[in-house]
Amino acid sequence: RKEIKKLTTGSSNLDNLLGGGLETQSITEFFGEFGSGKTQIMHQLAVNATMPVEKNGFDSDVLIIDTENTFRPERIIQMARAKDLDPDQTLERIHVARAYNSHHQILLAEKAADMAREYRIRLLIVDSLTSHFRSEYVGRGSLAERQQLLNRHMHDLLKFGTIYNAVIAVTNQVSANPAVFFGDPMNPIGGNIVGHTATFRIYLRKAKAGKRIARLIDSPYLPEGETVITITESGITD
Ligand code: ATP
Ligand code: MG
Repeated sequence: RKEIKKLTTGSSNLDNLLGGGLETQSITEFFGEFGSGKTQIMHQLAVNATMPVEKNGFDSDVLIIDTENTFRPERIIQMARAKDLDPDQTLERIHVARAYNSHHQILLAEKAADMAREYRIRLLIVDSLTSHFRSEYVGRGSLAERQQLLNRHMHDLLKFGTIYNAVIAVTNQVSANPAVFFGDPMNPIGGNIVGHTATFRIYLRKAKAGKRIARLIDSPYLPEGETVITITESGITD
């Protein structure tokens, strides 16, 4: 078994909550309502993974499976500049695969291993993990199939993380409305498939002026708790 490494989020508050950052060989799920900062954090993690080891980076390439077409190279450039990184070199190391439906998404995750033979990928992002599954498998009758496919997909991701000693970061949009929130089996609260496979789960809520509250939920060994992060032009900070 390879030594577990930790990837900085850009916020020392959030890093501390996580015991140093996102761990390799496990899945970290960021969940929260629209605009809660999930995609912004994914961009920041991608930039951070390319950073040198001395700066808590992995000096590695990144694979992003983008299901909602929300990857923005311009945002990577902004964040790279803020870290004194060469924007073009940073972008070159971030490989984006657009997933057109849930089947394609599953396929891309399976093919990630092929990419890892060509590039040194130590961060695999799926943003969003759940959007295609939600829109394709609607109604009670398709629920079991949806959860089964999602479960298998997550195990593929975890396997990649284990083999390549990579961080796996995924996003999951949830409604801020408690009635919808608790009624939805894809929501991490209340024990469901996404929740069971994700080792670290972080719930994001909006607060004032670019601030977000991040809460760590059900960690295998870290205490529950919450902290504040900020989304700025430069990226994710305290
Ligand atoms: P969804 O569930 O819809 O995918 P999300 O959780 O991925 O939402 P993000 O797209 O990460 O949400 O967050 C968008 C928010 O991030 C914006 O509303 C804005 O507050 C903030 N944001 C985005 N870009 C910048 C920037 N360049 N500078 C400051 N804040 C920004
Ligand atoms: Mg998003």
